[in-house]
Amino acid sequence: MLHLGGCHCGNLTLRLRLTRPPMDNPTRSCQCAFCRAHATRTVSDPLGQVDIAARDGAQVERYRFETKTADYLLCKACGVYIGAMCDTPDGARMVTNVNTLDDRDAFPPSSTFPNHDQEAVEARMARRAANWTPATTHGF
Ligand SMILES: [Zn+2]
Repeated sequence: MLHLGGCHCGNLTLRLRLTRPPMDNPTRSCQCAFCRAHATRTVSDPLGQVDIAARDGAQVERYRFETKTADYLLCKACGVYIGAMCDTPDGARMVTNVNTLDDRDAFPPSSTFPNHDQEAVEARMARRAANWTPATTHGF
């Protein structure tokens, strides 16, 4: 199923293809300080696909923190966080912030609350490669 979304001002748009109906996708609210500050609810599907496009690539922030192994993509104009992207041996992978999708209400309202703060870098990278969604970027 195809889900459309993006940031608030329209600079960043995303097209997310998931293999399951919205309600069958577990959503997660990561307990790191960044995700808690943004009240994120994320989804990923290793068999899906997400395409992110920027109208103005200079307005895309690739914020990195802690292990600095993923880019947290934010729009500089409106401040919205759309998801995190990471390079793996099989290409870019992403978790998408469900709250930026047009049909956000079709997804499960309650999340699991994983805490990855103590996770080693190798385990972190392996988890992302196995679980995150294959991703492409356009314009940034
Ligand atoms: Zn924006």
